[in-house]
Amino acid sequence: MKLVLLTLLFLNASFSSVLNHDLKTRVDRQLKLLQQNLNYDFKMNYKLVMVKNDIVSNAAASFPFILVNENWIEGFSDKEVLAVITHEVAHLEHAHLSKGLALLTGGFVNAVFDINNPESLRERYSGFVRYYKLKQELYADCVAYNWLRELKDLGVDADPKSLNDVVRRELPGIDNFDEDYMGDDFVYTRFRAVRDGHPSVCRPEL
Ligand SMILES: [Zn+2]
Repeated sequence: MKLVLLTLLFLNASFSSVLNHDLKTRVDRQLKLLQQNLNYDFKMNYKLVMVKNDIVSNAAASFPFILVNENWIEGFSDKEVLAVITHEVAHLEHAHLSKGLALLTGGFVNAVFDINNPESLRERYSGFVRYYKLKQELYADCVAYNWLRELKDLGVDADPKSLNDVVRRELPGIDNFDEDYMGDDFVYTRFRAVRDGHPSVCRPEL
């Protein structure tokens, strides 16, 4: 993981001359807005790294960094930027990456020995990964939703529903999608949870 991150930072550095510093300042402002206003004891002051390559196509978290693709976030409103950052900080606070790696390894062993399951090993494993990933994303969304609501109550320009505005950018018609047809689709399940309002107490991840 460290190697991936170092490679990533190196690639980022090689592009630094063309990175948009105004944009970084704008995204950084939202990170500080979250960390300085929320009544919550964060593990640390997280660092923002803007990237301009395909390794991170939107946003990602790798302790203690938040990686954001410059092209992806460029047209976002401040509230949408805050929603993205808040979601990533929720992952970092709950150590999702390291927990995820440990669980995915365990999940693979589980899939190998689940011999009575008629599905192929690949299906069993990908099913587990999908289930686990969705749980993590829903949990991070729930934490972010509540943090954004708290910020809004404190008078900060924040809105928990901005989490869905980010989704609408990629899927503009999502509000009119057929619920029955969409079923348990990964993105739609997350969208529906934000639309209907996450509970104030988030169900723990796996
Ligand atoms: Zn996430």
